Amino acid sequence: MRTRVSHGVPLAPMTTLGLGGPASVLVELHDSAEFVELVGSCPDSPVCLGSGSNVLVSDLGCDSPVLRLCNQGLRIGTPDADGRVLVEVQAGHLLTDLVETAIAEGFSGMEMLAGIPGTAGATPIQNVGAYGQEVSDTLVEVRAWDWVLGRHVTLSARECDLRHRSSVFKRSRRWTLLSLVFALRRSELSAPVTYGAVTDVLGIPVGGRVPLAEAAEAVLTVRRRKGMVLGCTETDRRSVGSVFLSPEIDPAHARRLGARNAPVNSFPDGSTRVSASWLIQQSGFGLNSPIVDGVRISSLHPTLVADAGASATAFREAIEIVLQQVLRCTGVRLTVEIDLLGTWHTAREPGAPEPV
Ligand SMILES: Cc1cc2nc3c(=O)[nH]c(=O)nc-3n(C[C@H](O)[C@H](O)[C@H](O)COP(=O)(O)OP(=O)(O)OC[C@H]3O[C@@H](n4cnc5c(N)ncnc54)[C@H](O)[C@@H]3O)c2cc1C
Repeated sequence: MRTRVSHGVPLAPMTTLGLGGPASVLVELHDSAEFVELVGSCPDSPVCLGSGSNVLVSDLGCDSPVLRLCNQGLRIGTPDADGRVLVEVQAGHLLTDLVETAIAEGFSGMEMLAGIPGTAGATPIQNVGAYGQEVSDTLVEVRAWDWVLGRHVTLSARECDLRHRSSVFKRSRRWTLLSLVFALRRSELSAPVTYGAVTDVLGIPVGGRVPLAEAAEAVLTVRRRKGMVLGCTETDRRSVGSVFLSPEIDPAHARRLGARNAPVNSFPDGSTRVSASWLIQQSGFGLNSPIVDGVRISSLHPTLVADAGASATAFREAIEIVLQQVLRCTGVRLTVEIDLLGTWHTAREPGAPEPV
């Protein structure tokens, strides 16, 4: 399909929250070979959009051009003598499809990412991860358009500066990621399963390994219980997953919170973090609590979801209410994980992101 340019297109149906106004100009890229052609007609770096599963689009919509990455496809290399195989994937390819292919082909490295919505191209933006695996474990390089240099670039994983739910790309419009290369490993067994919730489903000790498909299915079971798989629940359907980042804490704080049974986890970038969901619960937000009109805490997990009657403005207000109450009750300032897209006129609270 050829690149499509349209005007005044509602963005809400292109996001998992189903909120927000129109894009003045929407460009849908289906083939990265056509990218250079459209650069000529795009004087400024566009706002990129994948599946819209980590964004809140303003009710006013987006005045800047929005570029939706719809380019699909992957190419699997030949495994080397150590069983390492390179997989090149187009940015618009769904992560769930990539994970499924990897498992079917018998490649380990992504099995714990089963069920995470979104496109492959968005995964380095916040170093997507769950249940002990992150994109930084397997990403080799990304191929992107650099809007400052005005040319294609290849950035190694090190240059992407992948950290906990962050990277050089987070909240920057400098690069449009067009394709990525991952290195997976031929293996019948999963990586060691390090999360208790997943080992409990599998009935194995922490650190045990199981066939790839079993690991992914156990992760999906845990995720469905929390409404963290798109389409697994009708009532909590309009979600962006976690709205807030789990904040980093120092070792003494980690010990104190650990003694209160707080979920405290260590991450590959060396940070120790306490679960944002736990902090939200500790601050008096029960499951299903209404926050503002059309926005409430999910009935399955302490995160915000939208209902009929919600607006992007209301969702943002709910974010600020949760932020302030968690700060008052726990002394911890949460920061927002999701990206705000489009034109926002309201003042920015500390901890809230700048619009992209
Ligand atoms: C139910 C649910 C569960 C989730 N669980 C997890 C989880 O376990 N772990 C986790 O890390 N995340 C999770 N997420 C968040 C989300 O799935 C990821 O952040 C995902 O990578 C977003 O992909 P997307 O294609 O939807 O990106 P979008 O939401 O469309 O975009 C996200 C950001 O990336 C930018 N962007 C997108 N594509 C490109 C590109 N090609 N080039 C440059 N910039 C780009 C956008 O401008 C935007 O700033 C969850 C979300 C939901 C709804």
